[in-house]
Amino acid sequence: DVVVNQLSKSFGSNQVLKALDLRVPSKQFVTLLGPSGCGKTTLLRLIAGLEPASAGEIRFGEKRVDQLPPGDRNIAMVFQSYALYPTMDVARNIGYGLEVRGVPKAERRRKVEEVARVLELSHLLGRKPKQLSGGQRQRVALGRAMVRQPDIFLMDEPLSNLDAKLRATMRGELRRFHLDLGTTTIYVTHDQLEAMTMSDLVVIMNEGVVQQIGTPEEVYRKPANLFVAGFIGTPP
Ligand code: ATP
Repeated sequence: DVVVNQLSKSFGSNQVLKALDLRVPSKQFVTLLGPSGCGKTTLLRLIAGLEPASAGEIRFGEKRVDQLPPGDRNIAMVFQSYALYPTMDVARNIGYGLEVRGVPKAERRRKVEEVARVLELSHLLGRKPKQLSGGQRQRVALGRAMVRQPDIFLMDEPLSNLDAKLRATMRGELRRFHLDLGTTTIYVTHDQLEAMTMSDLVVIMNEGVVQQIGTPEEVYRKPANLFVAGFIGTPP
């Protein structure tokens, strides 16, 4: 499990996370939902190690990870702006994380080809990012995360740049990817429909704390408090 214990984070006088507690069970697809500014991205960045906590701890199973450098956490994070390396072709973009870790070329190629097959990118391996559509680029960014076989996969609104049709397709792909890889996935979205259809559990956040965690059905049918009832009931 990923366990977040009394986690706080301040930027100057702005306390964004307020002694937040959260347990994400192993291999679950868990989505963070909440109003803009409630701290979802900040929480992901702390789990990934891109930002230090002000107080509290983060554990993966028995292991305390909040003091570990990001490279030692076996986490992959995909952002909304999935910056690819413009001069590298698709194959090298996907395999670059393995390259910097010194994975031998033959093994790298095998892994890149496998990931490309799953993401239906095999025919595009020789292209540069600018020769791809938005959805294809997004799949390359996912491939880059996938190829590392992370224990934990963090995604921050990865579909927000895509059109509605592609978004619908990608929801299915992300879900399948999560299952194939057997990872723990923590996902951030503004889209409640997306959250409800993709997630094993949803976490409703407000003002730096967790208001409720439950299955999509539980959160809908039995909101824990007025905030959750209002938030879930309100179309975005
Ligand atoms: P959104 O849904 O709009 O993406 P969010 O829930 O992901 O919002 P965060 O991005 O975590 O919210 O931001 C929470 C608060 O922390 C905001 O008030 C933001 O201005 C502040 N914040 C985030 N990162 C920084 C930073 N690096 N420096 C200063 N303030 C920051």
